[in-house]
This record gives sequence, structure tokens and C-alpha cells, in this order.
Amino acid sequence: MQLAFIGLGRMGSGMARNLLRAGHGVTVYNRTREKTKALEADGAAVADSPAAACRQAEAAITMLSDDDAVAEVVFGESGVARALGRNAAHISSSTISTRMARLLATRHAEAGQGYLSAPVFGRPEAAEQKKLVVIAAGPEDLVARFRPLFEAVGRETVVAGREPWQANAVKLCGNFMIAAMLESFGEAYAALRKARIDPHVFGHAMDALFASPVYANYGRIVAEERFEPAGFQLKLGLKDMRLALENARECAAPMPLASLLHDHFLAALANGQGEMDWSSIARVAARNAGL
Ligand code: NAP
Repeated sequence: MQLAFIGLGRMGSGMARNLLRAGHGVTVYNRTREKTKALEADGAAVADSPAAACRQAEAAITMLSDDDAVAEVVFGESGVARALGRNAAHISSSTISTRMARLLATRHAEAGQGYLSAPVFGRPEAAEQKKLVVIAAGPEDLVARFRPLFEAVGRETVVAGREPWQANAVKLCGNFMIAAMLESFGEAYAALRKARIDPHVFGHAMDALFASPVYANYGRIVAEERFEPAGFQLKLGLKDMRLALENARECAAPMPLASLLHDHFLAALANGQGEMDWSSIARVAARNAGL
């Protein structure tokens, strides 16, 4: 398939590379051009604008920071929406709001273009190794047509529903679960450190209980306080808690724990941790314990 890939940050670079490896023709665009060099060396064509990347594309995949970045890249003067052909589709893999996903679906439909939401779980290493979990949603025929792209970047594709925003709701609730785990590690480790117990001993016990690579990986990162360089920046984690709460409000489903997590991410941001990994939320509990 001929594809446009827009947004070569921590996640997008690995995803674009795996699409090339799967044999697709990929034209990339990134706001900071420097980041396109490695992909160009791997065989990607490089475009000067999102529109230029989209002209021949059957699908345009975006992997950008947030709603504002997606709005700029899609609806801007040389944006995706102006250049993508009729019957081509935009696939948004960024973690964005359910509201933005509905706006994208409407605006693309008005232009005769398809739209799917396909946010992903997994950190940059997983993106590089084709181990992401893709949550796709949208019209069944479009999901079927573009499933090979999800299979090229991930180890599993879960279809969340026929309306694109449903995939974003799943992604936001999933990140809420992971954030809750990070908060639990922070609180437990603070108590254990004061009880003079090695967090790795606790980590072993939790591995035996949960047998989850996500628990094992984050348990080690928090125990070793490996918060830099960030795999997932805390300021983006804060964005996700805000969006999870927005979705909760839309659905009239209170999420009191998400409110607490939002405030703890905000406290961490206020303490200069915005560019650290989001697992550094554990420092909030440590500070509260006088550590
Ligand atoms: P990142 O490394 O900060 O990359 C962000 C990308 O967005 C960069 O390509 C950046 O371009 C681009 N961008 C930001 N604002 C823009 C604008 N106004 N116009 C054009 N381009 C813009 O972020 P990431 O970690 O890859 O995350 C990308 C998305 O995936 C986010 O929605 C995040 O929540 C989600 N996600 C992240 C992870 C993770 O572990 N990192 C996992 C799953 C999902 P420049 O290079 O020019 O700055």
C-alpha cells in the first residue's frame, strides 16, 4: 500500500519503520525535519508538508502528541484533509480525546475520506519491535481493509467498535489503569523504603502474583528510578488523565481515582518532572513520605 506517515517522535519512528519492513511504500513528514533522516536511510520518501505526504496515499497515519497537534496537521493550510484523496483514509494512532475523534470522523466523511482511530499500547521499544497492541475502531469495511497495517506495527489488534471514538475511550481507560499501577508502585515503595525493605524483593513477590510484563517492567523502572530519558513523557501522561476524565464526564461515569491521578501528575509537573518518564509520578508519594 502507498502510505503517508506523519509524526516521527518516540513512537512514530518505530511504527513507520515496521510499515517499510512490511513492504509498504511510505512517505514521511515530521515538523522537525532532522528526525526524518533515519527513515529516509531505511527507504522512506520525505515530504515537505503533511499535504505533500498524502497526495498519492491510500492511507495517512498520524502519530502526534495531542489534539492540538492533530488539528494543526489535519486541518491546517497544508494539512492532511486538503490533500487526501476521496476513498483514502486517515488513521489516527495518537492518544487523543473522544471529542476530537468524533470531529475527525465527521470532517473526513464530509470530504469523502475514511477515518479510523487506531491508538496503541506499548512503549517506544515495543513500537520498534512490532510488539504494540493496536486498538482499532471504525466502519467494519475500513477496519478490514487496513488491518494489514495494524498487523505490521503490532502483535495484537483489538477491534473496539464501529465508531472510531470507541477506540480512544479504550486507550484512555487503559492508560488510566497503567497510571493507577504506577501510583500503587510509588505508594508501596515509599512505605517499603521506610520499612527498610529492598523494592526488588517486593517486585519479585508482585511478579509471582501478577505475572505481567507491564508490572515487571514498570516495577523495575520505579525501583531503580530510571526516569530519564523518558519513554513516555509525564506531561503526556497528564494529558491522558485529563482526557480520561473528559470521557468519564461525557459518559456520566465518575472516575475518582483518575481525578487523584490527574492531580498527582500535575504536582509532579509543578516539581519539574514534565519531561521525565510518567513513571516518575512515584516521586509524589516519595515526597509525601518525606523521602
Ligand atoms: P513525542 O516523542 O513527543 O512525538 C510527538 C510527535 O508529534 C513529534 O513527531 C512532534 O514533532 C509531533 N508534533 C507535536 N506537535 C506538533 C505540531 N503542532 N505540528 C506538527 N507536529 C507536531 O511523543 P510520542 O511519545 O511519540 O507520543 C505520540 C503519541 O502517542 C501521543 O499521543 C502519546 O500520548 C501516544 N503514545 C505514546 C506512548 C509512549 O510510550 N511514548 C505509548 C502509546 C501512545 P517534532 O518532532 O517536530 O516535535
